[in-house]
Amino acid sequence: MHYEVMFQKHLDALRSEGRYRIFADLKRRCGSYPIADQFTDGGAREVTVWCSNDYLGMSQHPAVVAAMHEAIDQVGAGSGGTRNISGTTHYHVELEHEIADLHGKESALLFTSAYMANDATLSTLVKLIPGTVIFSDEKNHASMIEGIRHGRGEKVVFRHNDPADLEAKLKKYPKGTPKIIAFESVYSMDGHISPIAAICDLAEKYNAMTYLDEVHAVGLYGPRGGGISERDGIMNRVHIINGTLAKGFGVMGGYIAASRACCDAIRSYAPGFIFTTSLAPAIAAGALASIRHLKSSTFERTRHQERAAKLKGMLKADRLPVVENPSHIVPVMVGDPGHCKSLTDVLLRDFGIYVQPINYPTVPKGTERMRLTPSPVHTDEQMERLVSALKGLWAACPVANGTYVRLAAE
Ligand code: PLP
Repeated sequence: MHYEVMFQKHLDALRSEGRYRIFADLKRRCGSYPIADQFTDGGAREVTVWCSNDYLGMSQHPAVVAAMHEAIDQVGAGSGGTRNISGTTHYHVELEHEIADLHGKESALLFTSAYMANDATLSTLVKLIPGTVIFSDEKNHASMIEGIRHGRGEKVVFRHNDPADLEAKLKKYPKGTPKIIAFESVYSMDGHISPIAAICDLAEKYNAMTYLDEVHAVGLYGPRGGGISERDGIMNRVHIINGTLAKGFGVMGGYIAASRACCDAIRSYAPGFIFTTSLAPAIAAGALASIRHLKSSTFERTRHQERAAKLKGMLKADRLPVVENPSHIVPVMVGDPGHCKSLTDVLLRDFGIYVQPINYPTVPKGTERMRLTPSPVHTDEQMERLVSALKGLWAACPVANGTYVRLAAE
């Protein structure tokens, strides 16, 4: 068996489809977001980052950075163990209380990422409640899909954001069958927002639990940053809320917030929680500072929405194919993986504008796109540079009228 040849074959397949991923080698400059240095063979140069999920720039917020420094000075770098075996520090305990309070729940449970929180929780729920059927929105994130798969229970996929289709599927099961409806509040690639209240109505009618991924909403929506369910005043109707500490809160880690018994059961049975070293104390301290700040400060949230709306308006005014949606996500549709990559390559090479191309399997084939993420600290001038560069590139390679012209970077 020629193992190297096998690896190479798979890599060649990705290259020929135009979706081989090249990571930008970046060094962010603390206090200067969205400016970063990009490292290439030719040395380092300044770029403007337009695709980060550090939505509010909290990763460089002075309160967050100071809390992390202070924690390192006090307790060192690592937690020293799993949560069960010496890795529960006071920072973890305080952070779980803060998260439970943020979502108005009895309890919360930390994981090393929201991916792990989804995977571990969904798979364990099915084991704790045998016979559970999970109803999953067709656009759910890979972490939920994997969690459902690992639970090995029955899964029913319903049409994206479609309560009528969900109801038609729920109806087919007896009321006594345990059910979970798993969905997101903000779908990160299209920017759609889900009809949470309508889904909760169905959950009540058909005796189902609700599992809501608020990863792209926590910190960003709601009076205290509790997400779309807080904004809509319905956090209490959702049984389990999943969130990340990495995006809106700017640090790292994930969690669920739910009833005391639910969190305790996941804590006690989920291998993805039990058998791994806990988050570094400094990370927990930074996340704690971030959540506390965003609970009381609305400045970042308001400015974030203003920046996103402004950028969408500018792109539309220049007839660039920005996808309409009610959230902060700014998708610009390209529809071809090679083209998407060459556009973003030229943006980076000629304009110092970094936008990672979004390809299959993150989005369906034929819907490759640029996903722009303006933050409160992206300036008018940076937006004007971005839109003007995109406008010029679009004129050089008109995707819209079907003439596919390869750009020089390919
Ligand atoms: N859920 C959704 C909807 C996501 O988009 C992501 C990551 O992008 C995750 C969960 C995982 O979050 P984390 O980066 O904290 O693992």
